[in-house]
Amino acid sequence: MLSSCRKALYTLAKHSARSFQSSAMALSRFEYVKQFEQEEKLLPNCWVVVRIDGKGFHRFCNVHTFTKPNDLDALQLMNLAGMTVMQEFNEIAIGYGQSDEYSFVFRREASVYQRRRDKLVSYVASLFTSAYMFHWKRIFDARSVTMRYPPSFDARAVLYPTDENLRDYLSWRQADVHVNNLYNTTFWNLVASGLSNSDAEKRLQGTLASDKNEILFSQFGINYNNEPLIYRKGTILLPKSVCIAEKKQKLIVPIFDDLIGDAFWVKHPEILDKKAKSDDAFELGEDLSQPVVRYQLEVHTLRKAGMKKLETSMSTLQTDAS
Ligand code: ATP
Ligand code: ATP
Ligand code: MG
Ligand code: MG
Repeated sequence: MLSSCRKALYTLAKHSARSFQSSAMALSRFEYVKQFEQEEKLLPNCWVVVRIDGKGFHRFCNVHTFTKPNDLDALQLMNLAGMTVMQEFNEIAIGYGQSDEYSFVFRREASVYQRRRDKLVSYVASLFTSAYMFHWKRIFDARSVTMRYPPSFDARAVLYPTDENLRDYLSWRQADVHVNNLYNTTFWNLVASGLSNSDAEKRLQGTLASDKNEILFSQFGINYNNEPLIYRKGTILLPKSVCIAEKKQKLIVPIFDDLIGDAFWVKHPEILDKKAKSDDAFELGEDLSQPVVRYQLEVHTLRKAGMKKLETSMSTLQTDAS
């Protein structure tokens, strides 16, 4: 009661301060410069993909001693930052991350910021970047890797008019992981076996996927298909209802799966059709141990504990007052 009164008073004060501010602004002779601003609205009815990509991450990875070709912790950090963006915008149907990039797919009917391109693109990039910084210690403290300089991410918005275009876009990004990861895995194994970087590069020049698979298998005993899915397929993030301690909870869930074939889209029909949302709780399985899931559950537990503490102090207040 007390806090809701305080909140109402605060909102009232804030609004009157704002209207004073805007009426004062309206009187300024400088106001006309506002007309120079141009606003682009993203076409209605299209899927909006906002993709962020790390600037100069080749260097950023070297400076921060990321393991080559895949630093699992660095990928988990990207996933935590992706999760933060998905928690903020409930109109994102699916997120997809690989390497130093993340794609966020806003629904056709998304009305966030009235679909203003500048607002959406800049906000997603800045939230992703600050979340990357925010979660850094949680991931890298254990390895004593301190941040040496601030990372940055660019962002663009691309519109896709059909579901097929959208699926092809995501397939394109997932095919990109496959090509890069097969190359990088072979390259870094050759380097680890004693070849110089340029010799390894020469060895791989003009090779097909089957050649690289063969090098990995015959020289290093690696069956590429047994490499972890997160490396081969990237990370898909979906908002799902999950059953935790017999209670349903909304979580951003990481999924490591092929999204090029139809099976994925049959399994998750709500991505393309919001109405197809099922009431069944999503089974987390071994994904329960993923940092993205663990973090959300921790926050939930802390919030619950905080609410309990607040409830106790409120009831003490009420008892004191009576
Ligand atoms: P939007 O997301 O549309 O930008 P907003 O809440 O950020 O909404 P702004 O018009 O950007 O609103 O105004 C910023 C608000 O933050 C103002 O209310 C301003 O008084 C407050 N603010 C900014 N800097 C400070 C500061 N250093 N100390 C106190 N208040 C501040
Ligand atoms: P640009 O600014 O043009 O994007 P960039 O240096 O970021 O340049 P990208 O094409 O985006 O180049 O490639 C990202 C680089 O970061 C690649 O070299 C990739 O191997 C590396 N990288 C990204 N994530 C990881 C990771 N988790 N572990 C190891 N290396 C990674
Ligand atoms: Mg990059
Ligand atoms: Mg990249």
